Amino acid sequence: MFSPGNPLLQDTCSRCERPAVIRRDDLGERFCDHHFLADIRAHVESNIVRNRMIAPGDHITVALSGGKDSSALLLMLYDLLPLWPGVELTALTIDEGIAGYREETMRAAVDLTRVLGITHEIVSFSGHFGKTLDAMVKGNEPRACTICGVMRRRALSEASRWIGGTTLATGHNRDDEAQSLLMNVLRGDLPRLLQDSAKGSSGSFIPRIKPLSVLSEREVLTYLLVRGFFRDLPECPYSHTALRSEVRRMIGEFDEQCPGTSARLIHLRDEIRRSSPKGVSPGQPGSCGICGQPCRGEICQVCRILDSFRD
Ligand code: SF4
Repeated sequence: MFSPGNPLLQDTCSRCERPAVIRRDDLGERFCDHHFLADIRAHVESNIVRNRMIAPGDHITVALSGGKDSSALLLMLYDLLPLWPGVELTALTIDEGIAGYREETMRAAVDLTRVLGITHEIVSFSGHFGKTLDAMVKGNEPRACTICGVMRRRALSEASRWIGGTTLATGHNRDDEAQSLLMNVLRGDLPRLLQDSAKGSSGSFIPRIKPLSVLSEREVLTYLLVRGFFRDLPECPYSHTALRSEVRRMIGEFDEQCPGTSARLIHLRDEIRRSSPKGVSPGQPGSCGICGQPCRGEICQVCRILDSFRD
C-alpha cells in the first residue's frame, strides 16, 4: 500500500526507526504506522471516555454510509469495543437513492460489515419516505444536500430506535465540525451553533456520539490506508452544489497557511457554548404538529419537505 516511492516514506518516525506515514504539525512529530495507530486509538478512546459517549449495556448503531469517515468509525469502534464489555454494535446504512453513486458506496458498506462480522441493516429513502433523493430533488438540485441531510437524520433516528439502538454514532471528524461551525455562522444560525449534538439527546431524539471528532480528515484517511481498508469511491453528484464544499475549500486554504485553523475553530465553538448565557441557549425543542417528532417550530422540516411533494 505504501510503496517506496510514496513521499510519506521519506522521513522516519519520531519515536522509532520505522518509515513515517504521517506528519502531525500540531505535535511537531512524525508517526510510523504502528505509532500512528496507537496514537489515534488513544485519542479516540480518551474522547469517548471524557465525554461519556459509551455506557455499559449500550447498543450502538453506527451510521455507515460506506464512505471514509463512517468506515473508519466502524473499524475504530470494532477495535475499541472490548474496553466496554456487553456493548453491542450494529451498522446502519441509509440508501438515499442517488443513481450512479450510492451503489458503489453501498457495496463498500456491505463488504466492510461482512469482513468484520457486524450486523448490518439497510433502510432506503424510497422505503421510508416513498421517494428516492433523486426524485425528491428533481428540478431543485441546489437544495439536494439540505433535503438529504434532514431526511437522513430522521431515517437514522427512527431506524436506530427500531433496531433497539440506545446511541447513534456518526463519523464526523474535526474538519467536518469546523465546517459546520462556519456554515452556522454564515447562515446566522445561533441555535444550531449552540446546540451540542455530540453530547447526546435533545427531546426524544436518540443520543448521538461523534467519537472521531478529535481526528482530522487527513488522519481518518491515513487510518484507513494503514489498516488496508481505503477504497477510492465516486463523489456524490450533488456535492458541488453544497455550501459545505465551499466552506471546506476555504478552511483547507487557511489550514495550509496557518496549520491548526480547524482545531482553533472547534476550540472557539466550545468556548462560545460554555460561556453562552441561558437566554440564548437553544433550549428544549417542542414537538411537530403533524408527526409529533421533536422540532423547534410548529412543523418539523421533514413534514415540510414531504408536504411540498403533495401537489
Ligand atoms: Fe447527500 Fe449532499 Fe452528501 Fe450527496 S453530498 S450524500 S446529497 S448530503
